[in-house]
Amino acid sequence: MIRERHLFGPGPSNPYPEATRALAQPLLGHLDPEFLRIMDETCEMLRTVWGTDNARTLPLSATGSAGMEAAFVNTVHPGDVVVVAVNGLFGQRMTDVAARCGAEVVAVEHEWGQPVDVDRVLSAHDSPAIIAAVHAETSTGVRSDIAALGAGKGDALLIADAVTSIGGIELRADDWGVDVGYAGTQKCLGVAPGLAPFTIGDRAFERRVQKPRSWYLDLGMLGGYVGEAAGKGQRTYHHTAPTAMVASLHAGLTRILEEGLESVWARHQAAGDALQAGLQEMGLELFAAEGSRLPELTTVKVPEGVDSAAVRRELLERHGIEIGAGAGAYASSVWRIGLMGRNARPDAVLLVLAALKEVLG
Ligand code: PLP
Repeated sequence: MIRERHLFGPGPSNPYPEATRALAQPLLGHLDPEFLRIMDETCEMLRTVWGTDNARTLPLSATGSAGMEAAFVNTVHPGDVVVVAVNGLFGQRMTDVAARCGAEVVAVEHEWGQPVDVDRVLSAHDSPAIIAAVHAETSTGVRSDIAALGAGKGDALLIADAVTSIGGIELRADDWGVDVGYAGTQKCLGVAPGLAPFTIGDRAFERRVQKPRSWYLDLGMLGGYVGEAAGKGQRTYHHTAPTAMVASLHAGLTRILEEGLESVWARHQAAGDALQAGLQEMGLELFAAEGSRLPELTTVKVPEGVDSAAVRRELLERHGIEIGAGAGAYASSVWRIGLMGRNARPDAVLLVLAALKEVLG
């Protein structure tokens, strides 16, 4: 038996009980009418959490990184200029993925811990085909202003990474001018890892690569399974959808929408505020720039002389609590504490603060 963990790291988070229970339901075939209903409802609920009317909104059958690949492989034509805002690990990953798709990448580098500088990104090139940025940089705990990028994008397409923001903080893809968005299930949506909620608007779909290098992530082909053709009852087999995972996402989304999306955002904010205040009261210093701190993912500096890995090990062994190490150059000088989805609760705040206090002595 695996002992229950408190997953207070950068993800996965502990799933909502409804999402876990859904995994134990009878398995459905991927073309079973009952499953197709669950899939349609899931896409509809995803539209709500994305804040979009896009017909092409679906859970891709893979993790968030596949969402990133799908975004670029379907939109980057060879030689296209892609401006990427890099203020952490996932912005960096975007530059790698875009380059592999044949883009001429213009990386706008920022100091880690700072939000994206919208003016610098928008003035980095005269006429980029694509501008890309991470809404919630999980590596640093920073929120960036996607709406401002959307307002200034001109004719470019805007790709936004919402892996750590969806279901946790305000996200309004249509109002903010997001053309392509991808996310993950394992963070604020409170579902196990395995699916990538994805959305693409008409403008981006019309400009898409007709025959992308990836067969699996070809949105033109996936559209036959969900989206327009599916809506007309003309579903075609593309791949075997992970039916249990979709049922679990359906249950998680139902749980979130029953609570109310704005209440869920407020719950994340309250938990993050309480955690950040508590850490500072303990004399710890936060890493992310003030004013841009994510409530769902807090980055805190490891105090001088403290063995970062030993503290994480003790938290896990003594209290069953997982927190994350820092990313990249900050691997041993920063901790990442996530209170996402079900874990965005006052009792989780008290538990992690008390355990950390005890371990730090
Ligand atoms: N983008 C961000 C902001 C992330 O936090 C992550 C994962 O932590 C990813 C992309 C990649 O997602 P996955 O690990 O599910 O492939």
